[in-house]
Amino acid sequence: MSETESFNSPPDDESPFEMAVQYLPGVGPHRAALLSNLGVKTVHDLLWLVPRDVLDLSHLSQVNDLTDDRIHTLRGRIIDSDSKAISRGRTMTGAILRTDDGLVRGVWFNQPWMLRQLQEERFVLWSGKPKFRDNRWEITNPRLQWLDEDDEQAKGEVLTKYRLTEGISLEVLRRYIHAALELVKGQVADHLPQRFRDKYSLPGLEQALWQLHRPDTVESFQAARRRLVFDEQLDFQVGMALRRRIRRTREKSPEISVTPRIDARIRRLFPFDLTAGQEQAIADIVSDIAHEQPMHRLLQADVGAGKTVIAIYAMLATIAAGYQAVLMAPTELLIQQHWQTINEALLHSRVKRCLLTGNLTASVRRERLEQIASGEMQLIFGTQAVIQNDVRYHQLGLAVIDEQHKFGVIQRGQFRAAEKVPHVLVMTATPIPRSLCLTQYGDLDLSVISELPPGRQPVVTSLVLNAKVAKKAWQFVAEKIREGRQVYVVCPYIDSPEADAPAGAVQIHEVLQSGELRDFRVGLMHGQMDRGEQQEIMASFRERELDVLVATTVVEVGVDVPNASLMVIFDAQQFGLSQLHQLRGRIGRGAFRGYCFLFSKSDNEDSLERLRAVERSANGFEIAEADFELRGPGNVLGTEQHGNQPFRLTDFARDEQILSETSGAATRMVESGTIDEPDFAPLKLRVIDRFGEQLGLTRTG
Ligand code: ADP
Ligand code: MG
Repeated sequence: MSETESFNSPPDDESPFEMAVQYLPGVGPHRAALLSNLGVKTVHDLLWLVPRDVLDLSHLSQVNDLTDDRIHTLRGRIIDSDSKAISRGRTMTGAILRTDDGLVRGVWFNQPWMLRQLQEERFVLWSGKPKFRDNRWEITNPRLQWLDEDDEQAKGEVLTKYRLTEGISLEVLRRYIHAALELVKGQVADHLPQRFRDKYSLPGLEQALWQLHRPDTVESFQAARRRLVFDEQLDFQVGMALRRRIRRTREKSPEISVTPRIDARIRRLFPFDLTAGQEQAIADIVSDIAHEQPMHRLLQADVGAGKTVIAIYAMLATIAAGYQAVLMAPTELLIQQHWQTINEALLHSRVKRCLLTGNLTASVRRERLEQIASGEMQLIFGTQAVIQNDVRYHQLGLAVIDEQHKFGVIQRGQFRAAEKVPHVLVMTATPIPRSLCLTQYGDLDLSVISELPPGRQPVVTSLVLNAKVAKKAWQFVAEKIREGRQVYVVCPYIDSPEADAPAGAVQIHEVLQSGELRDFRVGLMHGQMDRGEQQEIMASFRERELDVLVATTVVEVGVDVPNASLMVIFDAQQFGLSQLHQLRGRIGRGAFRGYCFLFSKSDNEDSLERLRAVERSANGFEIAEADFELRGPGNVLGTEQHGNQPFRLTDFARDEQILSETSGAATRMVESGTIDEPDFAPLKLRVIDRFGEQLGLTRTG
């Protein structure tokens, strides 16, 4: 398009979907501002506002069928009405509905204006929950649907219900949505070809929008909702599938073969036999990296299942083949600990290795970057610092990302390599429910380690809800410390300025030091201390110079001190279930049985029920499922990095079926090349417009 042409196009020549809701009939700027509380800014937003629920008033009852346990709809004619004053300015309006088989009374309080309508004695549908009173069925405030005549075919409505906001009533919202539907009537282009819709029994998009908001039946509402969720998931899954295709056809990684000699040399570094799950994961990786097609593998294993060993194996194999390997972890503490592990394992090795974190001096950092760029540095450990713009690798063969759930979805694959891309291994200890796995990690192959190393006993978890039990718990803790064990005490906050606020680590540290644990050496660690200080405290805990470590969730992931076998968690209801499981995963890692006490002063039954789920189950997967059901996906994955969740419509607990359907459909469509056919072009463009940047796709891809 030339400049003059674009200049000439009128500014209001935009799609009606993009129009601000303010300009819809009857809305205006004030109501538009209120609607934005529902996330609604444009006509599109309004139309894609999925009802929370539907109320089926479509089935008509006879008077003889009435029950007082549910809403009924009746059809009849109003035959009598009256209105009278009852105490102090209150009025009661009543009417009698004559149906085919009897009479029902309706009453309205303080709505004297109803009388006029009722006096017309028209045919009408009444809906409401009846009560049997004074020998007659009565409905208070029945919902009215006037009929023009004695229409035997008349059916009640299927009413949609929406999440509302202050100042926007259900009726008003319905009116706006109707106006939006009218506005776009006949203009809804369907991006899915008919043949595809037929195959998956999806209604057309325009029909789906009408049926979503003004359904004829509950079934047609459900079909409409399914269509929109299907769209949302299909877009994402097609994006993932396109991404896989590009990777497979365009990106190349080094071929790394692991000879028996190399294999034996690496295994000698581990003081134990690998578990069957670890062996399988290693076999998966070894077979992946032997090919130039880049590995993208997710290693999922419960806390303590021994993922670090796998990472070390894969990295050393990569180095043995002459390439660089990098390990990225989400926190300084965690990377320090991995660093220590690798240094112990490589005590007598000449592998050139370094740490790259955010707190290096400029000159040290510059020197390291040079060594990395020249290829002199073989093994690089670091935080997000390892994917910063100025980090150039020489020949990066493998990138391992530990505890990926703490990073955003996007941060994978940002390792800047000269020519070939590295193989990528992602590790996570938060077992992810299958449906979420499909969406967050749909482009990764999966290895799962389901068993823990032998001899590991499950952590014994107990809820501590009152002072008496707390006293016993502390006695038990003291006893164990005398036997030589160490203890973590975890608090939800660093500081609690008010006495009744949830526990702050600073206060708890003081209280314990002069109280329950006064005979022992009690340390304190939290995220506001500088990194050096944190490392020192962690080191002295590891060296057993401290018996007790009072900390915030800085100890949540990956910290590994086998002698620490006890944990006390204050105000446990403040944490997510998976987070509690992670925390608990810090103990019972050595030969000693782990004991975890969940302290809570909450009297909220829901909170307590959630804590009981953690008390009951030692299985991270079960807990993640429970967490997921109770709190939604954001909390399982950690909300921080997932603010831009691409899924607004999907209900992960309910729509699992759609997730697997779309994942299959997307894979087949891309593998078979159907996606490149002309009638799928609208879908493909839409996917690239939405996810192109995130997934590294372009329109020409
Ligand atoms: P996670 O999977 O939670 O990251 P780690 O890799 O930190 O677990 O391993 C947990 C502990 O188990 C470590 O102390 C590690 O040395 C030990 N470990 C790992 N694999 C085995 C094994 N096969 N046999 C015995 N201990 C093991
Ligand atoms: Mg770990």
